[in-house]
Amino acid sequence: MTIKNYDVIIIGAGFSGLTAARELKMLGKKVLVLEARDRLGGRTWVDHRLGLDLEMGGTYVHWHQPHVWSEITRYGLELASGPKAEKVYWITGGKTYSSTADEFKARLRATVERVMKESNKHMPYPFEPLYTESFRNMDHVSGEQFLKDINLTTEEFDVLHGWIGSDYCGDPAEGAVTQIFRWWAFSQGNWDTHSAMVSSFRIKHGTRKLIESIAADSGAEIKLSAIVGRIEHEDGSAKVFTAEGECYASKAVIVTVPLSTLNNIEFQPSLSEAKRESSREGQTSKGVKVWAKVKGELEPFDALAPGSYSLNSVHLDRYADGNSILVGFGPSATKLNPNDREAVEEALKYWIPDIQVLESTGHDWVNDEFSKETWPMLRPKQLTAYHEEWNTPEGSVFLAGTTYANGWAGFIDGAIENGLTVSRKVDRYLLSKHYVHTE
Ligand SMILES: Cc1cc2nc3c(=O)[nH]c(=O)nc-3n(C[C@H](O)[C@H](O)[C@H](O)COP(=O)(O)OP(=O)(O)OC[C@H]3O[C@@H](n4cnc5c(N)ncnc54)[C@H](O)[C@@H]3O)c2cc1C
Repeated sequence: MTIKNYDVIIIGAGFSGLTAARELKMLGKKVLVLEARDRLGGRTWVDHRLGLDLEMGGTYVHWHQPHVWSEITRYGLELASGPKAEKVYWITGGKTYSSTADEFKARLRATVERVMKESNKHMPYPFEPLYTESFRNMDHVSGEQFLKDINLTTEEFDVLHGWIGSDYCGDPAEGAVTQIFRWWAFSQGNWDTHSAMVSSFRIKHGTRKLIESIAADSGAEIKLSAIVGRIEHEDGSAKVFTAEGECYASKAVIVTVPLSTLNNIEFQPSLSEAKRESSREGQTSKGVKVWAKVKGELEPFDALAPGSYSLNSVHLDRYADGNSILVGFGPSATKLNPNDREAVEEALKYWIPDIQVLESTGHDWVNDEFSKETWPMLRPKQLTAYHEEWNTPEGSVFLAGTTYANGWAGFIDGAIENGLTVSRKVDRYLLSKHYVHTE
């Protein structure tokens, strides 16, 4: 069997992998991308559901996210946003309350912004997360513990608990508060800026448009439905084997698979114990994103509930044919099946008792063997224990992905940032080996 040779093989055709592929091609390298799924995009995926093109995974982008914004500029893409919330529902002490959005913000703004500003005390440079000792010292604290320690009223606690539960896409008792600080630090304690950055603007024609633009620009060879099962590596060379029995050779490999799936690949020799342990631990984000088509045109709203509820945040995304399209986030994929219309209706009834769900949908990223998590959110102690290790290559094997980013880790922006960083590292590595280009 003749084995095809490349300068670099990249595992995974999500934002991180395809960004790295484009950069390395621009640097004159021969690149192969192997992707397990039958599509590009990884944890971003536009699918036709409820009669609409809907984002099953990563969606929101913002001009304060510098890496994704530069891609939006490069490819001339436009943004879209849903109607601005006029009403807010929230649950505290087991009871549901509602008010206008302005009243809700006025009621809680001082507390929310005081709490958000805590992040800036510990993170003067948001793109250097481990810069201060005080930040490193807080890495063992969970988001829930942090809220318990700062003297909040029950209402403030419940609102913030629901909010960070939604950010973790998981249980606030299991997520590191430092991860929440990493989200907050970019907004300098401004609540409105924060909301705009993480949950307001999407790419008008979908993330598919952006990922396809990067893929087309890369000119890299991309093989879909190619599940990588084993990587044999030594300094300066590697062999990559797929489940279908194909083998490819290269001088370096970039592995962009989600952290929780890293141990699905057998490395020969095996990766460091720390890398394997972090993959075994996985992340906090074991939750769910739910789309629902609801009867009638509801007033634009945001809804929040504490982490113990099956949905922590919901908002009106858009109107379609006289009905409302809602999107929500819950902490546990085992607690709520997004395709179970009745269960989704029950969950929404906490806020709006007479709501009528016509259809609901979503993708189970947690039980998807190629993700096993939603967006990455670290557990206590993981950032301090592993950040440097994840970013340290082992011979010709480099990890890349949003988890390992310095800035917007967990976001599309972080995936692009780390894809860029690692592609340059790989280029320097190849230069240090005095390799010439593979024909
Ligand atoms: C429900 C949800 C909502 C989100 N919302 C937002 C949001 O609003 N804004 C935002 O910025 N981000 C959001 N994110 C996060 C964002 O989608 C991710 O951070 C980003 O897409 C990750 O890119 P990546 O390249 O690091 O990893 P991935 O996209 O996971 O790419 C890794 C690729 O590796 C492939 N792979 C895995 N195993 C193998 C194997 N053995 N062989 C070959 N290929 C393999 C996978 O199929 C995948 O394509 C969300 C994610 C989810 C799931």
